[in-house]
Amino acid sequence: MSTAISDRFRPFGTTIFTEMTALANKHQAVNLAQGFPDFDGPEIGKLAAKIAIDAGHNQYAPMPGVPILRQAIARWANRINGIDPDPDTEVTVTSGCTEAIAATMLGLFNPGDEIVVFEPYYDSYRACMAMAGVVARLVTLHPTETGFSYNDEELQAAMSSRTKGVLINTPHNPTGTVFNDRQLEQITQLCIRHDAIAISDEVYERITFDGIAHRSIASIPGMRDRTVVLSSAGKSFSLTGWKVGWAIAPPRLSAGIRSAHQFLTFSVPTPLQHGVAALLDEGEDEITKLQAHYGSMRGLLGESLSELGFRVRVPAGSYFIMAEHTEVTQRLGLVSDVDLCRWLPEHAGVGAIPPSAFYSDPADGAAFVRFAFCKQAKAVDEAIARLRKALA
Ligand code: GLN
Repeated sequence: MSTAISDRFRPFGTTIFTEMTALANKHQAVNLAQGFPDFDGPEIGKLAAKIAIDAGHNQYAPMPGVPILRQAIARWANRINGIDPDPDTEVTVTSGCTEAIAATMLGLFNPGDEIVVFEPYYDSYRACMAMAGVVARLVTLHPTETGFSYNDEELQAAMSSRTKGVLINTPHNPTGTVFNDRQLEQITQLCIRHDAIAISDEVYERITFDGIAHRSIASIPGMRDRTVVLSSAGKSFSLTGWKVGWAIAPPRLSAGIRSAHQFLTFSVPTPLQHGVAALLDEGEDEITKLQAHYGSMRGLLGESLSELGFRVRVPAGSYFIMAEHTEVTQRLGLVSDVDLCRWLPEHAGVGAIPPSAFYSDPADGAAFVRFAFCKQAKAVDEAIARLRKALA
């Protein structure tokens, strides 16, 4: 009997993260596939959540989020994103950034509206757009000598009077691109010209390297009133399982986001909101340690992959390396990213993600493989040793 999946979701199948983590587990592989830390989040947050449970903060939180968390998010946004949101009317706490993306798509756009989105994209973008009946206009981040970048003309050509939004992700999963000022200013001009909203997924905002600063497009003059900033505690504080995220937007846009959020999840687990509030205010030292750790894991994994024949463009941010694998796969008698990512867990004992899942035309991602380095040094060391053995 065929599975009962609506036409809306049939094209999306099972997420590549679920599939590749299952494959890694089956072969007891080091899981450099799904991006989640293999270590715990900071004590400050866990303690604050436990205290909240014991203090009886166990009933529904207010629909937009507990006030102390919304206030902490507003302070964080002021410090990190250079904006000054009103916690009551401009901040909405969501079940991770993933729900914030869904609430933004469903709450702000109508079927047939066009949104420009960069590919490769995080897989839920396309699924959420499909839920909302939004039409995706794709602009590719092409590989360059040192990183990935879109082509100015392609971006301009994608935007028209039908464009209602531009969805950006900076630092970018999976390429590690951090959008620079010139790019953000160009996107600003185009958003203003076409009266479009920017939806800016900034979940990797605290994971950048080599002194490269993340900048929120909301801080660029002219954008504050037309930007939805999305982020979460998951990446900055290694608490991906808490699923506490948020959307910051001017009141007219927050109204739309909240109208969807109230029917998607209504509210987010109350004690975890207390935990995140403590971290946003007091977790800066933890972030400094995390950045140093990810910096060395990026170096270790990047250099080893290069030695093994992968073409690595060193990521400026995020905790992913998107490496070109052609030389390696040719040696193995394989062809695509999917071949390699099915081969690696079984034969090398390492899991990875095939980036073709992040492109409208899978062929565009077939030459790449994504490795996550948000792991302890011993896991990254072990993965490297296993890759050396299998690929030598
Ligand atoms: N954001 C993480 C990644 O890109 C995992 C997302 C997920 O499992 N849904 O790997």
